[in-house]
Amino acid sequence: MTSSATTHRRLPRSTGYLHTLLAVAVTAALAVGLLVGLGGGSPATGAAVPKTIVSLTFDDGNDDQLAAEQVMKAHGLVGTFFITTSWIDSPTWLTQANLHSIAADGNEIGGHTVTHPDLTTLPAADATAEVCDGRTTLAAWGFTATDFAYPFAAQNAATQQIVKDCGFASARSLGDIRSPASCPACPFAETIPPANPYETAAPDEVDSTWTLQNLQDLVTEGYLQKLPVDPMTGSNQTWRTVMEDASQSISQSEPGIFDVHSGSDKMSLDGTAYSEW
Ligand SMILES: [Zn+2]
Repeated sequence: MTSSATTHRRLPRSTGYLHTLLAVAVTAALAVGLLVGLGGGSPATGAAVPKTIVSLTFDDGNDDQLAAEQVMKAHGLVGTFFITTSWIDSPTWLTQANLHSIAADGNEIGGHTVTHPDLTTLPAADATAEVCDGRTTLAAWGFTATDFAYPFAAQNAATQQIVKDCGFASARSLGDIRSPASCPACPFAETIPPANPYETAAPDEVDSTWTLQNLQDLVTEGYLQKLPVDPMTGSNQTWRTVMEDASQSISQSEPGIFDVHSGSDKMSLDGTAYSEW
């Protein structure tokens, strides 16, 4: 993705009709070169063009995530960092100062308990303390955490209720979106809104079993099977994709889709080509 990238025009969220949500959870400093935005929309027709929303999430607070955050920042991306509070300021873990710089770059700080237990194995009072105290600690550090991720993705109805009662608005699971090793038949994306905000679906953690193609498929398959008609051309086969510069690709191997434009050669009322949108 280059600095000369086409400006993305974003539609108000309410106008989209095929939103999909894709959460990619990574635990190490693995930056994921995933961002497909279908920019555009016609001022003449007011037709909405869907976009795929990719959520990049990092669990635990390992200090190598700071490098990932810097790569994301360089590409104009932000993510959510789910923090296990008792690990912060220890060797190999992020510091509070790191968290503040990450937040200042526009990233979200989320809850991930105090000590990272399997919440489903704890008595209710202990599980509640893990979830609520983690959120309270983040608040004491200056972060209002509104979203949570379950350690080990271990959760049930009781833990979902605890997370809700501790004041979180959502909680992320893992391994229930298409993943090469753990879930080859899962759907490619979560829905918006999710069926259960306290059990939002995500792929398994991205590790060495994943290929770049696996990641790209999450974006393109979940979306492209339902490719909408380009309102400018009346066809769903005319979208023009912009591949990112291979030399800029995070993987340094194959470039991914960077942007998608209308295939129309016509000009809009404001004098810009639809294909530039
Ligand atoms: Zn974790």
